[in-house]
Amino acid sequence: MIATIDGPAGVGKSSVAKEVARRVDFQLLDTGAMYRALTLAAMRNGVDLQDGDAVIRLARRTGIVLESNRVLLDGHDVTKAIRTSDVTANVRPIADNDAVRMHLVQLQRRLAAGRNMVTEGRDQGTLAFPDAECKVFLVASAETRAERRLIELRQQGEDVTLQDVLRQQNQRDLEDESRKFGRLKPAVDATIIETDGLDLQQVVDRVEQLIRQCIDQESP
Ligand code: C5P
Repeated sequence: MIATIDGPAGVGKSSVAKEVARRVDFQLLDTGAMYRALTLAAMRNGVDLQDGDAVIRLARRTGIVLESNRVLLDGHDVTKAIRTSDVTANVRPIADNDAVRMHLVQLQRRLAAGRNMVTEGRDQGTLAFPDAECKVFLVASAETRAERRLIELRQQGEDVTLQDVLRQQNQRDLEDESRKFGRLKPAVDATIIETDGLDLQQVVDRVEQLIRQCIDQESP
């Protein structure tokens, strides 16, 4: 069974997906980590991010492995390195590259085949897994999301202000929503959860409840 969790930057998808997957004993697929890992690979290898063909060639020869607590890029641990503002600021051309998206979507489908999986991203319920049994779309105001992200970045030691985070986030929202292929939007059959005013545990409780309902519906 596939449970998809989509939503905009900073809405808390990663934390929610991680905890929900643990509770329902599903595997976890953080698809944003794939786009980030490929961005980092391009930056480290001096590949021009705007050169679509060079990027897809790089994608095809790059090994991205998502373990439960680690992201490996060609065997090297890049768990922390993919979360820096630098990578975030450079991810756009990778996410806008249709061939790269198709390549990563195929990888996502292969990883999920035959498994119980909670998968999170922007296009999981629409493009990657349109037939998923359970779909969630998380929303929160721009301010709430920026405040959550600020705490996360400061914990990583980054010297950023709320204004910086908000500016970058508005830009990413625009990019995610205006992309032609794999655009951020709720699937027609997704349950939308408004998370303003809810803490992490409350959001996790709601998503868990939904997934358990889907599991019950699927059981003979
Ligand atoms: O979710 P996260 O912020 O880690 O995602 C990193 C970037 O990858 C986002 O800016 C988003 O544009 C892109 N992304 C995407 N499709 C996904 C997951 C992430 O385009 N399924």
